[in-house]
Amino acid sequence: MKIVMCASEVVPFAKTGGLADVAGALPAALEKAGHEVIVVMPGYKAVHAKTALAIKDVRPGLSVAAIGKAIKVYFIDHDFYFNRDALYGDKTGDYTDNIDRFSYFCRRTLDLLKEIGFKADIIHCHDWQSAMVPVYLKSMTYSTDPFYKAMRTVFTIHNIGYQGLFSKDEFPKLGLAWNFFDMDALEYYEQVNFLKGGIVFSDVINTVSETYSKEIRTKEFGFGMEGILDKRRDSLFGIINGLDYSIWDPAADGSIASKFSAKDPAGKAACKEDLQKFCKFPVRSNVPLIGVVSRLAEQKGFDIVAAGIDKMCRMDLQMVILGTGDEKYHKIMESMVKKYPKVISLHLKFDDALAHKIYAGSDIFLMPSKYEPCGLGQMISMKYGTLPLAFKTGGLADTVDAGNGFIFDKYSSDELLKTVKKSLTAYQSHDKWKKLVDKAMKCDFSWLESAKKYVRLYENALKRS
Ligand code: ADP
Repeated sequence: MKIVMCASEVVPFAKTGGLADVAGALPAALEKAGHEVIVVMPGYKAVHAKTALAIKDVRPGLSVAAIGKAIKVYFIDHDFYFNRDALYGDKTGDYTDNIDRFSYFCRRTLDLLKEIGFKADIIHCHDWQSAMVPVYLKSMTYSTDPFYKAMRTVFTIHNIGYQGLFSKDEFPKLGLAWNFFDMDALEYYEQVNFLKGGIVFSDVINTVSETYSKEIRTKEFGFGMEGILDKRRDSLFGIINGLDYSIWDPAADGSIASKFSAKDPAGKAACKEDLQKFCKFPVRSNVPLIGVVSRLAEQKGFDIVAAGIDKMCRMDLQMVILGTGDEKYHKIMESMVKKYPKVISLHLKFDDALAHKIYAGSDIFLMPSKYEPCGLGQMISMKYGTLPLAFKTGGLADTVDAGNGFIFDKYSSDELLKTVKKSLTAYQSHDKWKKLVDKAMKCDFSWLESAKKYVRLYENALKRS
């Protein structure tokens, strides 16, 4: 099969979250399975700053690099749209011209396919930033051009909370006829909604876990998309993300103090000591160390963490938090550091190497997301022998259970605190803990199975007329 992966962020070129991990790893897994894959993403400033990645200019507006064995990654370059410090916005909020930036990206992606003669079977789009690809494919000159006729689209929703909403006044910028601004197309309560376009115009849709694919059809989790998703329920699937074990493997991780594995877990103790020193904590092997690598957002459970953090800091534990997000959570956590400097260590930044150190050096990985489409943190932490503590929702419900971590099913600060206490008690019974760690480390979330499911999804899409 000839497949185009179209995403707004791809590891190792640009990343703000799990989407980038998926868009980087799935193409490689598909290539291994014998498919021909290319990747298309915007050529951000950060991409071109990474000189080690051997990015070559093809011509103005296009550059290229390679991943996997021979997967070409095409970068849509545009000095004004993409040569900026961030991907989607700055401190003041989203860039105000995101409608221009990402509609441009989507149209250029389709044009590019013809320019390079890549007659794809499947164009696989991810999230609102590439959601206009399926819309354009069924409109403008693309819908009548024989070159595009047989192409089918798959749209993956990584987080339904982010939809790409713009004012109706901006609709003409998309170059579409006004009949696309309709309740059954791109309109959502008098606004333009990119994600909705992806949902309506793609041949098949999926989300990144089975549980989340069901949850988003409900009012509680659907963020207003539940109605349209219900209409398309026969085309809606759930496929759990895999994990790229060539990046996330404590036995081959260059960023951690000592390598280890399920077979030979001894090195984890050195990683913990290293992390304790880094955090300026007392170096004690018998105190449970809780790690957090996350956006500091309500979605990630920070409302209940913030409500319980003072009580948590008075328990016998240590806690390291890496992430950025809502200013209000930055402030709450900063005040906790002042109050409990030997208990909590805060790193308000995006830092890949430190993330690796935290996964490796912690005992417990706190991830009480209010909703979680898939979640990678819990899968990564398990591989590093760090037991996840999670709320039972979405992908967390599909991957964490009492055999490999700690899970609670009522979303409240009290339940969170109870579960933290339970995990601290479990930590003190060494044999039980060892067994849990061993089981967690042996969980297999590799891409192999998930890639097979995507191939079946593509086959399904190809049958659509
Ligand atoms: P999201 O909803 O943010 O996409 P996921 O759990 O799916 O959440 O993926 C988050 C990914 O981003 C993981 O690989 C995690 O390790 C990484 N990550 C999140 N925050 C940071 C940070 N501050 N520094 C480094 N890596 C981070």
